[in-house]
Amino acid sequence: MNCDFRTDFPIFSKYPEMVYLDNAATTQKPRQVNEAVTRFYEEANANPLRGVYDLSVKATEAYESAREKVANLIGAKDASEIIFTRNTTEALNLIAYSYGLSHLHEGDEIVITIMEHHSNILPWQMVARQTGAKLVYMMIDKEGRISPEEIETKITDRTKIVSIGYVSNVMGVLNPVEAVIKKAHSVGAIAIVDGAQSTPHMKVDVTELDCDFYALSGHKMLAPMGIGALYGKMKLLLEMPPFLTGGEMIEYVEQQSATFAEVPHKFEAGTVNAGGAVGLGAAIDYINSIGLDYIEKREAELVKYMIERMGELPYIEIIGGSKPCDHHGIVTFMVKDVHPHDVASILDEQHVCIRAGHHCAQPLLKFLGVNATDRASVYFYNTEEEIDRFIDALTKVRGYLGYGA
Ligand code: PMP
Repeated sequence: MNCDFRTDFPIFSKYPEMVYLDNAATTQKPRQVNEAVTRFYEEANANPLRGVYDLSVKATEAYESAREKVANLIGAKDASEIIFTRNTTEALNLIAYSYGLSHLHEGDEIVITIMEHHSNILPWQMVARQTGAKLVYMMIDKEGRISPEEIETKITDRTKIVSIGYVSNVMGVLNPVEAVIKKAHSVGAIAIVDGAQSTPHMKVDVTELDCDFYALSGHKMLAPMGIGALYGKMKLLLEMPPFLTGGEMIEYVEQQSATFAEVPHKFEAGTVNAGGAVGLGAAIDYINSIGLDYIEKREAELVKYMIERMGELPYIEIIGGSKPCDHHGIVTFMVKDVHPHDVASILDEQHVCIRAGHHCAQPLLKFLGVNATDRASVYFYNTEEEIDRFIDALTKVRGYLGYGA
């Protein structure tokens, strides 16, 4: 297989020994993205959206061109429906504070799933606390699936917001978002998709999905940290109050009142992360140059290989679905008798980076009856050789701690 693009990632030549399998937490950055950010600061740096001079216009163009790229990537019809945020967390909080607090009342319900990341739980707990609405959970089976009955019975006439992760950051399972969105709309609720773990790995079309909001994080898809995006249907964005207030997001300010800028600027208060947005634009160009079809196929091959090889080790239990296709880039597991943090530390001694802990999904882990797990997650630049190194390192874990194979 051609993995020429590995040379685009300076970190891999800096640490040739390293096997990086924590891509669900954040991905590595290609030179093309780093250079685009540097180029922005060296050749176009000015405060975008403020000045009328040439350099500021250049900065504004670079920033707005990144917005177009995000819109094209996720199939938004109008780039104005893309709001830059710091990350998925901020995007979901924006919806909660702006839409949630202004639309929900006592007796209303917000429906999420038990497998959500804390970023898609805590904002809704806040809305529920402040409005008297109730937070309702759709439960899953052992394989991580939400049944059609669960969708049918939990989303009711009381439901006003449904928010669901497209791909779980723990189970790796792809959720039935189309069915959830359809059901939400049938009861007059809005549907939000947490796209943190889907956008980097598969084709997404928000228009086809017909979701009302879609959140993503740049750093999980080759872009710098500190830049993310929220897609929202224009109809909703127009009627929503601002989330943060201050500079940039206004039209006129009087002593006691203000009118706000047009969407999307209404939601982008203060000086924006233009360098980050340019980096995200460059990351999207890079992803498009490889192709999401290729990325999805390659990751499926890598996960299949990983699961097959893990199957050779009888003391490993994989959490979630039994088939490789149940795991979208993410394999969460336990090593019998060994604490997940010890597993990750022993792997680290062998230069293998995996994640151990609750993965910001404590309600899910409680539901699964564990305090912590290990998680290996791939991106298209990983190789079978790296997976062999991971397996090799795993075979040493129990021996290090004095257990038999
Ligand atoms: N949702 C999911 C499914 C995630 O995996 C993550 C990141 N682990 C987040 C939300 C939050 O992303 P961020 O920290 O970039 O805001």
